[in-house]
Amino acid sequence: MGKIIVVGSGFSGGILARKLAEECGRKVTIIEKRAHIGGNMYDEYDENGILVQKYGPHFLNTNKYFIIEFLEQYAELFPHDAKLLSFIDGNYVRLPFNFRTLQQLVGAKKSEALLAKMREKFAGRDRVPIFELVDSDDDDVREYGNLLFEKAYRTYTAKQWGLDPEDIDRSVLDRVPMAMNFDERYLNKDFQYLPKKGFTELFKNMLDHPNIEVRLNTDALDYIEFDEENKKITYGGETVELLVFTGAIDELFGLKYGRLPYRSLDIKYKYENKKSILPEEIVSYPQAPGYIRSTEYKKFTYGIDMDMPVSMTATEYPLQYDPESENANIPYYPIIAEDNIKLYEKYLKEAEKYGNIVLCGRLAEYKYYNMDICIEHALEKFEDIKKKLED
Ligand SMILES: Cc1cc2nc3c(=O)[nH]c(=O)nc-3n(C[C@H](O)[C@H](O)[C@H](O)COP(=O)(O)OP(=O)(O)OC[C@H]3O[C@@H](n4cnc5c(N)ncnc54)[C@H](O)[C@@H]3O)c2cc1C
Repeated sequence: MGKIIVVGSGFSGGILARKLAEECGRKVTIIEKRAHIGGNMYDEYDENGILVQKYGPHFLNTNKYFIIEFLEQYAELFPHDAKLLSFIDGNYVRLPFNFRTLQQLVGAKKSEALLAKMREKFAGRDRVPIFELVDSDDDDVREYGNLLFEKAYRTYTAKQWGLDPEDIDRSVLDRVPMAMNFDERYLNKDFQYLPKKGFTELFKNMLDHPNIEVRLNTDALDYIEFDEENKKITYGGETVELLVFTGAIDELFGLKYGRLPYRSLDIKYKYENKKSILPEEIVSYPQAPGYIRSTEYKKFTYGIDMDMPVSMTATEYPLQYDPESENANIPYYPIIAEDNIKLYEKYLKEAEKYGNIVLCGRLAEYKYYNMDICIEHALEKFEDIKKKLED
């Protein structure tokens, strides 16, 4: 038996490491290049007791209760429905756009007939992608879809992705829906929670196992070597039996086919001596120059004194990922577009040649996984790995 190396300590790496350690009784070494565990879920308390998620706001939401049960082994969770507003033409409107937004944008009188049409056309559907409105055969529905798209969506998308909407994969654009009711929640999932003491605490507990060793501040790429001829992998000269990789796949293979593009975020913090800064925990700004949204973390820090006369906003400025840059050196979002998927597939073939590389997670699989999907997927991957190790 050789070494089991897990590169990355986010949900993908963390779950696979814990399962391998616990259920297979195997020693696992996690290699993490950052100074902390948790990947993009990392959070920490600031000096005011506000729990700040360093890599942008994250809300756990799922329709599958086993995901909640799984996480409750490692942390106490509390129910929290994420709420968002969008600042459009000087007014705050609910996100996702719902029937109230429609009334606000077209006026109460005109909205009556349109609401009736929407109810009929999309009967039984809770949320409908904006594009279904834009593509509708009904003139009024289409007109409203175009209004939303132009006012709120085109500019937001252009800023977030640095591309025209026409050049982005439809699956990404379809993530923004309109609520076919007056539901004020950002997400319509059945189970919406946050860990009381934060995600970092959850990860600490998950990785606290005698078979797990975590090495922080270590770039795995400095130690991994591929013997292409014999299809062998070594880490620091030792043979690797299993390499679980959750980082960027193009970097694993030395960018030999070129770099896969990602979007990054420059997050700017602003403290103010106010009890409250924003009218909601997150506000999106489709029409503002350069930035897309602001988060006021105090509003969802568990147990904090809301009357405390200080708060903070974290504002996200999307940028193209560039590992050499000072403010855009973290790959946040894979850019799902045809050419990029083709390039990804070349790297995938490269990995498959070895037979003992498991690619898991947003970066390694170049997919737009939400936390719940990422968790479920890691649990499924574990079952495959277990079978392989037992054979
Ligand atoms: C801004 C933002 C907001 C989000 N909000 C939500 C939300 O509200 N709800 C939701 O469900 N999901 C959300 N997500 C998605 C969620 O963040 C992901 O599903 C999840 O964090 C992915 O985990 P992962 O382990 O695959 O990747 P990551 O968390 O990125 O972990 C990968 C780890 O690998 C490490 N690594 C990479 N290369 C190397 C190397 N060479 N050597 C050593 N270590 C390496 C990295 O440092 C990192 O720690 C959001 C994502 C973003 C970007």
